[in-house]
Amino acid sequence: MSLIFPLTLPFLVENTYQPQYEMDVYRGDLEHPKAPGNKWHKLQHHLVEAQRQNANVIATFGGPFSNHLHAFGATLAQTSFKAVAIVRGELQPKLTPTLLDMVACGVELWPSLRSDYRLGEQSDVAQAINHQYKNVYWVPEGGGGKLGALGCRDWASKICAAYDQYDAWVVSAGTGTTAAGFLANGTTPDLHVFSALKGTSGQRDEIIEQTHEVARGDLKDNHSHRLFFHSDCHEGGYAKHSPALLAFLESFAATNPAMPLDPVYTSKSMFAVLSLMEQRAWPYRRTLFIHTGGLQGWRGYSDASNPFSLA
Ligand SMILES: *Cc1c(COP(=O)(O)O)cnc(C)c1O
Repeated sequence: MSLIFPLTLPFLVENTYQPQYEMDVYRGDLEHPKAPGNKWHKLQHHLVEAQRQNANVIATFGGPFSNHLHAFGATLAQTSFKAVAIVRGELQPKLTPTLLDMVACGVELWPSLRSDYRLGEQSDVAQAINHQYKNVYWVPEGGGGKLGALGCRDWASKICAAYDQYDAWVVSAGTGTTAAGFLANGTTPDLHVFSALKGTSGQRDEIIEQTHEVARGDLKDNHSHRLFFHSDCHEGGYAKHSPALLAFLESFAATNPAMPLDPVYTSKSMFAVLSLMEQRAWPYRRTLFIHTGGLQGWRGYSDASNPFSLA
């Protein structure tokens, strides 16, 4: 089954311009039934490394609605590793849907104080896990780091091999690990990265640095000219929704009812890139938007704010 889906551009429908842009979506959200999107890819090299280190337990961190934690549970359920997750903040008596899915996948959840959580592998709770289980392999928050980026490089290479007809790709960023992996793949076209976070104007340099770490020798040094980083599309900050974004999502869902976007990342990137097209400020004809998944994140919002729940 092809995972490429054409998009109906909402403003073209309204204005009946001649279509000047073609935009397809690579539906990474449909790739894996239980662990869709980029997080599964970010875990793959971590699993290999855990195996190499003969670890019995793999542990990680995340918030109570985290896409990373959700994919971690579903991915680890298909391996023989024991899975442990430190959840940011106290565990509420009523677990979030994300955490309930993890429990169903057999993940052991450890609550944390927010102040301790910030210390990562140095936290008291991580030390307690290391003490209780021998030979624990730690996956960083969000599945990042060099090994996370390597998995995304592999992903980009596969997508390029199957679909090579695009002038540019669009991808969302949190940590920027996925973007770095994509850029490290030599066949990726111009890469437009849209950050879901506030205050990321310095992140472009970090992505380039991480790209260097995971690029193969055959990648020419001047790959940075293929990277376009957009830090002004957060619509109020991480996981926040501006009225303009909500209005956009309504109209997007009406024209593309079978193309759900997630609330934190892809909705903002889609809003930003379609706005550039609408202003005729997008210099490409054929664009591929990489859908990085995250639809389970809607469960942290009211049904009223999710225009795709009606689709
Ligand atoms: C985590 C996530 C991202 C961001 O990935 P990074 O590698 O941290 O930049 C983008 N989209 C979705 C849906 C995600 O869950």
